[in-house]
Amino acid sequence: MGNWRIKPIIVGEIYCDKSLLTPHRDIGTKLWFPCLVWYLTDGEHNILVDAGFGDSQRAMQLQPQFKTKANSSLSVILADMDLDPSRIDMVILTHLHWDHCSDLGFFGTTRIVVQRDEIQYAISPLSIDAIAYNSPSIGRKPCWLDRNLSFIDGDEEVLDGLLVVKTPGHTPGHQSVIAQTEAGMYGIAADLFPLYENMGGAVTVGFHPPSCINCEDWRRSARRFVRICDKVLPSHDPQVTEAWIPQTGQVEYA
Ligand SMILES: [Zn+2]
Repeated sequence: MGNWRIKPIIVGEIYCDKSLLTPHRDIGTKLWFPCLVWYLTDGEHNILVDAGFGDSQRAMQLQPQFKTKANSSLSVILADMDLDPSRIDMVILTHLHWDHCSDLGFFGTTRIVVQRDEIQYAISPLSIDAIAYNSPSIGRKPCWLDRNLSFIDGDEEVLDGLLVVKTPGHTPGHQSVIAQTEAGMYGIAADLFPLYENMGGAVTVGFHPPSCINCEDWRRSARRFVRICDKVLPSHDPQVTEAWIPQTGQVEYA
């Protein structure tokens, strides 16, 4: 039985129309949203979930519809935590949109875990999605392309008490992470729920989907995820920085 601790890291912020996260709601309301990477440890293993958007100028060049500001590069943040990249046992990428996977260049042979469906789609997506993926289909070279990728098909317990669950909908091969902690099952939703608002406050009704390639898949994923998790951690919600860390009950790294 794992006993994981979770640290949210704000690697930067993204300025965009809120209706990108909550379609048909708040159109024209532009806000800054945090971009999060998650560090998890059970005392023996060091895991990252997602890898941020990397360099801000480059991100804005490739994604001109967004403004970004980076707090720091992931390698500097890890150095501040006394974590050499070689001590990271695994990076789990929830999906391959630019703001979740673009700061991997400094990892050597670290295992990087992605759903097989996600890679297949990212290589050759619908043209409307190609920019968000920095896809090779439009001549770009996303930084995951030459990394040590490890494919997963569906759900898998990757370490004791650390589950990867496939949660398609936002993208075809989206996955989320559930960690067993002293305080229960903590779910790192990623863009299954960018904001708490997407959860709508109810288990079976009231969800509000984010942008999705398949809304029915998303709804099934959302229902299943909230059933399994005692606590859900969204990917771009400012409140997440107040998520308390199991064991201490305090905001440790906000
Ligand atoms: Zn996304």
